Amino acid sequence: MKSLDQIAAELQGYDPQALSAQGVNDFLARLVEPVGEMQSVAIMEALGRVLAADVISPVDVPPHDNSAMDGFAFDGSQLGDGELTLEVIGTTLAGKAWQGSVGPGQCVKIMTGAIMPAGLDTVVPQEFTKTATDGRIVIPAKLLAAGDNRRLAGEDIARGKPALLRGDRLTPAALGLAASLGIPTVPVVRRVRVAYFSTGDEILSLGDAPREGAVYDSNRYTVFGLLTRLGCEVIDLGVVRDEPAALEAAFTDAASRADAIITSGGVSVGEADYTKAMMKKLGDVAFWRIAMRPGRPMAVGRIESGDAKRPGAVLFGLPGNPVAVMVTFLAFVRPALLQLMGAKAEQPPLLKARSEEAIRKKAGRTEYQRGWVSVAADGSLQVRTTGNQGSGVLSSMVQANGLIVLHHAQGNVAAGDPVDVMMFEGVI
Ligand code: AMP
Ligand code: MG
Repeated sequence: MKSLDQIAAELQGYDPQALSAQGVNDFLARLVEPVGEMQSVAIMEALGRVLAADVISPVDVPPHDNSAMDGFAFDGSQLGDGELTLEVIGTTLAGKAWQGSVGPGQCVKIMTGAIMPAGLDTVVPQEFTKTATDGRIVIPAKLLAAGDNRRLAGEDIARGKPALLRGDRLTPAALGLAASLGIPTVPVVRRVRVAYFSTGDEILSLGDAPREGAVYDSNRYTVFGLLTRLGCEVIDLGVVRDEPAALEAAFTDAASRADAIITSGGVSVGEADYTKAMMKKLGDVAFWRIAMRPGRPMAVGRIESGDAKRPGAVLFGLPGNPVAVMVTFLAFVRPALLQLMGAKAEQPPLLKARSEEAIRKKAGRTEYQRGWVSVAADGSLQVRTTGNQGSGVLSSMVQANGLIVLHHAQGNVAAGDPVDVMMFEGVI
């Protein structure tokens, strides 16, 4: 496991006082080591979990050549330039194999999904045929080629081939695919455990009486929601007083139980509290100023677990402002936690949308504005900002369906310019 100094030495132009957003991601990618533990879970328990090993298919899917249509199965080598007339000698249904043989000039009525009778490779859909009087059908000329409307055995998944890959997050489609192989359980990485608490003497817990200068804790609730959506096991350690003993107890408890710790508040420059001092005392921690808005101050590192057999917990010391918490989570913590979970790197794809308004932006820092993406009259995507963009204004986040990402080198945006948007759907 690398120390923070070792990681810093590997990175080009690392400056903890002016780190780019990309620099943060690069640093975290080197800091975080995936939890290795695997467990086997039933398919219905596996939604959103990360596969710990490839799933090799024990079978062909579909298991037999079968019909893709309701129609008539026949030997396609008989197709020529003209019409083809065939005698219907029986019917085969899904779920049962046709037992008889089918000779030249003959066909079998077949239902979708039914096994192709031996020697037959082509299906003419019922609606394309003309029925002659005496139990014969006529297939019009030039309508079909041999092999049409037949699904091949193994065309979805071949036996012995990986059907799902290690590091995949199991989607509804993946659950269905695992089941289609006849596999009742899948190997997944154990859930990542994340402990979190809020700091600050001005922070009230729900149920506390309001008092002057104090605000209710919102960060624990957004962090809870973000972690839950990601499939983490959460350990809520509440609001922790700004006292060395309380902070030490919270960090020690968190590091003994969790793979990662998220705190909010107390990492700003000039902050006259004990949070930073305690992080330094209990672990290997760097304090950054990030070239971003909102966000800026952040602490990152590892807190010792107190157990030689367990690695320390990764620490994300987020700023206190509620919007900054969500933005730094989405930009940095989420990709790092996915890596901890053993998931393949998957940055959510950014959409391009036309900005409905001019946006002031300073080059040399990454800015995240809360935005609402909609479809314009011409069918293209457009985005507007959602009200007051202050880093404490959580309502701007509630009203948004995505984050407008204004990249490090980007300058002012004119109305009508394309901008990148990270959509929330599927992410939070
Ligand atoms: P700090 O980073 O501790 O300087 O906090 C920045 C701002 O965020 C201050 O206005 C705090 O009152 C506010 N803040 C800090 N923690 C929380 C929290 N858990 N919930 C709501 N607001 C908070
Ligand atoms: Mg504070």
